[in-house]
Amino acid sequence: MILGAGAAGLTAGIYTARAGYNTIILNESAVGGQMVLTNEIANYPGVETTNGYRVAATMKKQAKDFGCKIKSNIKISGYGLDNPVKRVDLEDGRTFRAKTVILAPGGKPRPLNIPGEDEFKGTGISYCATCDGEFFTGKELIVVGGGNSALEEAVTLSRFASKITILHQFDHFQAFEHAVEKVRKNPKIDFIMESELRSFIGNGTLEKVSMEHLPTCSFSEKKIDGVFIFAGYQPNTQSLQGIVKLNDRQEIMVDADMKTGIPGVFAAGDCIAKKYRQVTTAVADGTIAALSAGEYLHKDIE
Ligand SMILES: Cc1cc2nc3c(=O)[nH]c(=O)nc-3n(C[C@H](O)[C@H](O)[C@H](O)COP(=O)(O)OP(=O)(O)OC[C@H]3O[C@@H](n4cnc5c(N)ncnc54)[C@H](O)[C@@H]3O)c2cc1C
Repeated sequence: MILGAGAAGLTAGIYTARAGYNTIILNESAVGGQMVLTNEIANYPGVETTNGYRVAATMKKQAKDFGCKIKSNIKISGYGLDNPVKRVDLEDGRTFRAKTVILAPGGKPRPLNIPGEDEFKGTGISYCATCDGEFFTGKELIVVGGGNSALEEAVTLSRFASKITILHQFDHFQAFEHAVEKVRKNPKIDFIMESELRSFIGNGTLEKVSMEHLPTCSFSEKKIDGVFIFAGYQPNTQSLQGIVKLNDRQEIMVDADMKTGIPGVFAAGDCIAKKYRQVTTAVADGTIAALSAGEYLHKDIE
């Protein structure tokens, strides 16, 4: 049983189903995970630049073609992972059992947790350029963040928006040079560095933001139509607290074979403790977890 149908979970499903193991993937939302939030995946080897949805759809087809069952939009209510036969309970009353479980719940964009964020989420604040960019055609936007995702998604948004200001807390970007080059060359994009948003302000709809220039501690306001936030990531492991070993960033602790410490329970992808989170690394983790799960089952049969 695999929990999560992102790049890691789908890859694990391809491997275990192809090896002949009866495999089911339970997924809490739509199949594909963060890949379907990504407008363009240009760095997946062997695949020419394509949108994330297409990569996800192909992975899903591969898994299903090998016989993997996939159940989406489920909600898990409880885990029983310690016994030789593992159990996962769903809120709708169903229970699934398996000899091994691969945890691949991924992560989600980290919110800024500042006043107004909850109020304007979905009506002026977004975490996904692919999903919401078009709603801001001809509008002025702020993009928060200075990593690869922020810069690449700012370029995507510039197809729709009239003007984009990238707002970043440091005096330099933490992104690949070619991504920095691309935003610097884009005539629609300018920058506010060494600054952080402090609140979102509006009456029903977002009207302006308050921001602080960090070196001078000075505050200012800026009128804006929308804000896209790319400020890092948090793992979807809340429901796994006390079930598997997590570190202080709430990431699942695994060894090099993706073993969690509970016999027969493995983890893969963005949810595990690691430095780099990409489709390639999620796919690699999913492969290792599936092969380790196969080895565990094989020993059981012997
Ligand atoms: C905007 C953006 C742009 C990106 N651009 C790129 C890029 O260009 N190239 C690149 O290589 N990477 C990119 N990434 C990163 C890449 O998408 C991720 O590293 C990768 O997709 C993670 O895959 P995953 O399977 O570990 O997790 P996820 O994709 O997060 O999938 C996990 C799935 O599990 C589900 N789930 C959550 N909790 C549970 C649970 N308890 N039980 C069952 N299911 C659960 C989730 O709903 C989700 O469907 C980008 C990410 C973002 C957000």
